[in-house]
Amino acid sequence: MKLTSFGGAAGVTGSKHLLEAGGKRVLIDCGMFQGEKPGRLRNWEPPPFDPRDIDAVMLTHGHLDHCGYLPRLVKAGFRGPIYATRAGREVARVIMMDSARLQEEDAEQANRDGWSKHHPALPLYDTGDVERALHRFRSVSYGQPVRLGELEIRFFHAGHILGAAGVLVDDGKERIWFSGDIGRLHDILMFPPHPPEAVDAMVMESTYGDRLHPRIDPEDPLAEILAGIMERRGVLLVPSFAVGRAQTLMLLLDRLLRRRPELELPIYLSSPMAAGVSELYRSYPDEHRLSPEEMESVFSRVRVVEHAQRARRLDRKEGPFVIIAGSGMLTGGRILGHLLAHGENPDNHVLLTGYQAPGTRGRALLDGERELKIQGRRFLLQAQVDMLEGQSAHADRDELRQWLAAAPAPPRHVWLVHGEGPARAALAEVLRADRSRVDGGGVAELPEGVAVDPVSGQAM
Ligand SMILES: [Zn+2]
Repeated sequence: MKLTSFGGAAGVTGSKHLLEAGGKRVLIDCGMFQGEKPGRLRNWEPPPFDPRDIDAVMLTHGHLDHCGYLPRLVKAGFRGPIYATRAGREVARVIMMDSARLQEEDAEQANRDGWSKHHPALPLYDTGDVERALHRFRSVSYGQPVRLGELEIRFFHAGHILGAAGVLVDDGKERIWFSGDIGRLHDILMFPPHPPEAVDAMVMESTYGDRLHPRIDPEDPLAEILAGIMERRGVLLVPSFAVGRAQTLMLLLDRLLRRRPELELPIYLSSPMAAGVSELYRSYPDEHRLSPEEMESVFSRVRVVEHAQRARRLDRKEGPFVIIAGSGMLTGGRILGHLLAHGENPDNHVLLTGYQAPGTRGRALLDGERELKIQGRRFLLQAQVDMLEGQSAHADRDELRQWLAAAPAPPRHVWLVHGEGPARAALAEVLRADRSRVDGGGVAELPEGVAVDPVSGQAM
């Protein structure tokens, strides 16, 4: 076996791991680079391998940093199958389509304003490219083997988000597991990740390898915020990611309001994308913890705001009510319009709900900044700002450690990927100290662009 990572090893975006085994070349994930500009520019470089030589792609899940480069790969000549779970494909479709639309809009804007040095400015890919990528998808059931020459490949539940999987590749001599993103052991929405089988090599995520998520019941702080909103007849704005986070919030609110009916107030989901994803939870009832009754209760409580015009009506409406809208880090989307309309009123409240990347408006708010620039306008936020802790979809340091320890036998080599430097280093230290977790081999950080033998740990 030979393993080379072309992204998502030293950082958390752009996941692309190439496995050469049994005479086949298999790409595990094909994600987009996100975040700061130097990273994003990597999406425009030609792929660091010939896409025509790749036999198949295994997609662990539909987050953009794992699937967002697929349309570009197909555009560059990839003609093989893309394997994913059924729900994983559906989520990837929603995410890739949204990504294509945003890029089309950006290119259009650049051409209108004439600020791009490319004439005309083009999107990285468009919705047609996404359609062509979707045609290459093949659905896999969890546990069902996929045969590719001498290789046998199986997908296992990873928790995390709907349709997420870990991928086990067996070439008849050696076995390697790619964890994808690993979910929480006690998530309110998703089941815990399937424990790993005994393998020779493990490629494992380490996003929160240096952190422990707070173990608090989010219902108490949420109840306090809702009570304040009721009293002041204010508006609660909740910036949220469309996949997973929005549904978790809806579930938390539903549970709270069933327990405390005196806090009952209208909840608007101002995100057609999040509403579409919520429908997927109905389509895949066995893949999450919600019972049909609870799903009905959650989804009937929330009023979906499909059209932009109706969303603007909410901007003139008096409280009390709640708006959930994207994007989760205030980098774009409908939440910005709602913030412009309601953010200057000190009776209102902004509740951040997830990771806020450096350089985003969400992070600025979290760091205490109150002057924001939105749609070219300087704007002083006077609403209160809070963060709802503990809602991450990623396992923390102890959960990662426990997950690995649940394998019936320890792997000979563990490769840590998908983490910033300090997170990878901290998790490596913890796993090395647990000698029983790794069978005589080692724990190493997977370098990018360097081929390694994943079992012996040697460079090739
Ligand atoms: Zn993910």
